[in-house]
Amino acid sequence: MAQQQSTSAPPQEGQRRIPKQPECNIGSSGHVDHGKTSIIQAISGVWASAHSEELKRGITIKVGYADAAFYKCPVTPPPEGYSTSPVCPVCGAETKLLRAVSFVDTPGHESLMTNMLAGAALMDGVILVIAANEPVPMPQTREHLLALQMLGLKKMVVVQNKIDRVDSEGAKKNYEAIKAFLANTVGADAPVIPVSAQNRINIDALIESIEETIPTPKHDLSAAAQMYILRSFDVNRPGADVKSLVGGVLGGSLVRGEINVGDEIEISPGIAEEKTNKYTPILTKVSSLGTGAGMADRVGPGGLIALGTTLDPRLTKGDVLVGNLIGKPGSLPPLRTHITVDLQLFDQAVGASTLVKVDKVKATEVVRLNIGTASTLGTVTSARENVAELDLKKPVVADENGRVAISRKIAERWRLIGSGLVRQ
Ligand code: GDP
Ligand code: MG
Repeated sequence: MAQQQSTSAPPQEGQRRIPKQPECNIGSSGHVDHGKTSIIQAISGVWASAHSEELKRGITIKVGYADAAFYKCPVTPPPEGYSTSPVCPVCGAETKLLRAVSFVDTPGHESLMTNMLAGAALMDGVILVIAANEPVPMPQTREHLLALQMLGLKKMVVVQNKIDRVDSEGAKKNYEAIKAFLANTVGADAPVIPVSAQNRINIDALIESIEETIPTPKHDLSAAAQMYILRSFDVNRPGADVKSLVGGVLGGSLVRGEINVGDEIEISPGIAEEKTNKYTPILTKVSSLGTGAGMADRVGPGGLIALGTTLDPRLTKGDVLVGNLIGKPGSLPPLRTHITVDLQLFDQAVGASTLVKVDKVKATEVVRLNIGTASTLGTVTSARENVAELDLKKPVVADENGRVAISRKIAERWRLIGSGLVRQ
């Protein structure tokens, strides 16, 4: 953190303007302090955790993001020819724009698995960051890899960071430990790129590897629009003049379809009535659309967008709408307060210091569920062999066969123990 704070002011989220809307979301994952946020900064120039509390505590608490555009020089050979600049940093030739991407920066702190899972719901691919100067694997490295595997995130680049902190012998040993850890996992064939985020060593090779390993997925633009909310804000300054107030802003990503300025949208589950705790979807209108490339009239999937609404900004303040889904009125999946899931539990989960056996889910047990970017507690009302029924504290919007991540409290922390598929 020290070197980032030495600049006069930290860059703000999405501050750097990029030439076109990002088409792909790339997540970061890995143990706290291994350098996830530093790597995103080394690539994009943006320190993704730009919230004051995060800067004070020096860790990423919420999911942050930063956009970057990748270019390739027609003259300088790879990897040096890869950069984020329209002019080649090596030879000065005009470079070719490859594509723009959004980085979704995951908090690495162990109590923040929920945020990691929320971010993971939007990732098309991922960089798994592992520090070269620590034993492999650290607990959250293991837990994040389990989560990525469970969510089927196969497009992965492994970053061996902080190579400035080890000699060549240490780097080699650590590399072998990383390969041994990844063997027989979703990351078995992932490229491992040694870098130093701090000294900007090998960032060009990392960009090349991302270009080769994490392609932009095929987006279905004709499908009914669906957007996951990852952040929600009141962007007005305290004490602002009523006339200058703007409506609530929602940050997130479309998974399919398109949204236009002027569209009527529904936000579900919406807001709860205080007395009854009954949720009602919110209907509103899109007043603006912001992407890393500036304001747009229409947005599609890929990249994080800021969707302005005509809602009272108090309704969107402080991330209250995180986990909600946005779509055309009437088109969203059903709201569920009770779900039945087909269970797939891990054999082992990450415990306090060692791996622990995962016992079966039992009736009356309280577990934590993550569905898309939503998180809620659930009380198991019935548990049979590989099937559980749960009452949800907060309703979720979920399709049949939607994947639910399941965590259990182990040694005072919520630990991922497996997943479930929602039954009809
Ligand atoms: P995160 O928790 O994974 O997001 O890690 P950060 O990006 O916040 O980095 C954690 C600490 O490691 C900070 O103090 C960084 O300055 C430092 N750091 C990050 N990358 C490097 C690197 O390549 N070399 C060295 N020596 N330190 C690094
Ligand atoms: Mg961080």
